Amino acid sequence: MDTMATKNQTDWNGIPYYPISRYYKEFFGEKVLKLPVSVPGTCPNREGLNGMQVCNFCDEWGSAAYPESRDQELFDQIRHNKTQVLRKGKAKQFLVYFQSYTFTYSRVARLEKYMEACLDLGDICGFVIGTRPDCISDAVIDLWNRFAEKVPVFIELGVQSFDDSQLNWMSRGHDAQRSIKALLRLQKKCPTLNVGIHLMFGMPGETDHQIRETAELVNQLPIHNVKLHNLHVLKNTPLEQDFRAGLFTPIDFEKYCQRVGIFLQHLKPSLPIHRLAANSSRRDELVSPEWTGDKMRTYQQMLDYLIQNDIYQGQLYKEDEEQLKTSPTHLPLEFFSYQSQ
Ligand code: SF4
Repeated sequence: MDTMATKNQTDWNGIPYYPISRYYKEFFGEKVLKLPVSVPGTCPNREGLNGMQVCNFCDEWGSAAYPESRDQELFDQIRHNKTQVLRKGKAKQFLVYFQSYTFTYSRVARLEKYMEACLDLGDICGFVIGTRPDCISDAVIDLWNRFAEKVPVFIELGVQSFDDSQLNWMSRGHDAQRSIKALLRLQKKCPTLNVGIHLMFGMPGETDHQIRETAELVNQLPIHNVKLHNLHVLKNTPLEQDFRAGLFTPIDFEKYCQRVGIFLQHLKPSLPIHRLAANSSRRDELVSPEWTGDKMRTYQQMLDYLIQNDIYQGQLYKEDEEQLKTSPTHLPLEFFSYQSQ
């Protein structure tokens, strides 16, 4: 058993992976909570830019955590959502999380105004910004760099998959190359940013081997954290139509646990993980699978699965490094030779 990984497992207080909450505590020196807010309310897919279509899994709320406050003014959302997050834990400082839709699909001056206004509140210690790999302009990068001089700025990129056929099936409107180039560009132009990615498991054609290769690729890219989702079916989405037509079956719980286990085993132990599975922000929106409907129960059962099977993050990481030197992979490693822009 790898000593480094075993040490890390112990360091996580019995949790078999490195949770982002722990990372935040180490980084800020105290507990901080994320305050999800919704602005500005659209994205290139929804606008049909260049013929793009809505991602097949995306609900009308654009992944907003608190859709009920989505239309409120920013400060009202912050007030409302702070009350909600403080029900789950205590904290004196908060990260404003521009979560829903594509935050950077808007005028930079508008985004700057939002961010400035947040800092005036006094208890905001940084930002988490959700965006897409193809919505990062030079002006946005300048904006992030300016704010990163004042407070930590965390970027969450919706990568979802490094497999082009799966990205195409989801109607993402970008390919894997775009994600990799965005990550390399951010590393070069904003070295102080903390950049995480979202990944989805449970897509058609997915294999255990592919999950392992995804972890291997993540290990080699300038990525600071990962958020995992199972692909679930929400009401009024293109995926719901496929599901009802028998064209898509969500991954079952046991298989999803196995996939997450494989991913964690091959992932660097130093990469914090945001979450292990998706949860629908509105219970009445979830069509399938049922197991994803109870966030806490799903989480506990996933933890049980990992612990009972003695699976933990980074368990096979060093082994992989050796294997990478000799084994080819179907993932687009040639993209590493791209010069970042
Ligand atoms: S997932 Fe993001 S990019 Fe895709 S349709 Fe929803 S808000 Fe737009």
